[in-house]
Amino acid sequence: MTQRTLVLLKPDAVRRGLTGEIIGRSERKADWRITALELRTLDRATLEQHYGEHVGKPFYEPLVEFMSSGPVVALIVEGERVIEGVRQLAGPTDPIAAAPGSIRGDFGVIVRENLIHASDSEQSAEREVKLFFPHHA
Ligand code: ADP
Ligand code: MG
Repeated sequence: MTQRTLVLLKPDAVRRGLTGEIIGRSERKADWRITALELRTLDRATLEQHYGEHVGKPFYEPLVEFMSSGPVVALIVEGERVIEGVRQLAGPTDPIAAAPGSIRGDFGVIVRENLIHASDSEQSAEREVKLFFPHHA
């Protein structure tokens, strides 16, 4: 089942020089293809759309501050079971709950600064791909 997913390497991953490590893990996981990749600083409007489900929650404002604090690397990754596959590589939201061996488990301790976003369903993936790469087929 070929899918595509929207991945963001968050500002902490870019600042800490972990983008190559994280992209490398996804390249080694499976025969997936990167079909778009861009370094970009996100504005509030984009983040409000991206994180619409979280608007109004206590962690929302600090999340937006963090996510706009420096550039992210946005990617589209395509391939077999890539939506669940990248979520598995990332691990659970809280890096302390994430097992060593996962990206969040290996490199994080802060819930907000958890290195990576990956779409959580086919519907989210289509919405997020269109938001970040509107001209992508
Ligand atoms: P995920 O990124 O694993 O899909 P969510 O969609 O629940 O997680 O949350 C989006 C992002 O908001 C998380 O990746 C994390 O950066 C931040 N976040 C979520 N819950 C909290 C929290 N309780 N405290 C601080 N930040 C949070
Ligand atoms: Mg989520």
